[in-house]
Amino acid sequence: MQEDNYRHKGMRKLLVEELRNKGISDENVLHAINNVPRHAFLDSSFLDFAYQDKAFPIGSGQTISQPYTVAFQSSLLEIQKNMKVLEIGTGSGYQACVLAEMGAKVFSIERQRKLYMKTKAFLSEFRYHIKTFLGDGNKGLPTFGPFDRIIITAAAPEIPQTLIDQLKIGGMMVIPLSENDDHQTMLRLTKQEDGSMKRETYGDFRFVPMLEGVGND
Ligand code: SAH
Repeated sequence: MQEDNYRHKGMRKLLVEELRNKGISDENVLHAINNVPRHAFLDSSFLDFAYQDKAFPIGSGQTISQPYTVAFQSSLLEIQKNMKVLEIGTGSGYQACVLAEMGAKVFSIERQRKLYMKTKAFLSEFRYHIKTFLGDGNKGLPTFGPFDRIIITAAAPEIPQTLIDQLKIGGMMVIPLSENDDHQTMLRLTKQEDGSMKRETYGDFRFVPMLEGVGND
């Protein structure tokens, strides 16, 4: 684990102010972003990029999401302590750590084998107890559900019914749904008493695609 010094902490404070200026107002989310050392998720030579509000390549053709996107999705989830949260697309593990820092019990699935192995080892150095799984997120984790919250961090071609089935009544799913190859609309779906889904639509975002099966990268 790379050290977390005053310079890093100072850069993080500036990032938090930038997110505030861009409209993120959930103090729990901002507090978590202020506490998770994003630079540790990138190679040390990329320090100057770690606290810019930009997505960044992390290997295996994947990216660590833009801080604004992480903050936006985390805000929509309205996390309370000890909620069970399922994440699809572990990637670097950064989003999972932000949710864990907010007090969630995080279960996260990644489909790329090498990335899964690397991130699993890396996350074990943190004090968070994030449970990571190699697999196709479309299938969810039936034996660990139902979940209070589900967050999809890849561009979904459709709303996976299997994941809806693993959501508690009153539970929420935040999903970037593909409109075309170029961008996704952020949706928040809330499961009603009768099993139907309330649908709220947020802005346009850009994610790497949600694919099927397991890959070796
Ligand atoms: N949450 C990540 C960002 C991930 S980028 C972070 O904070 O860094 C999206 C990730 O979703 C990629 O790692 C990609 O391999 C993964 N992914 C795509 N389709 C998937 C699927 N069906 N199941 C699980 N992971 C998937």
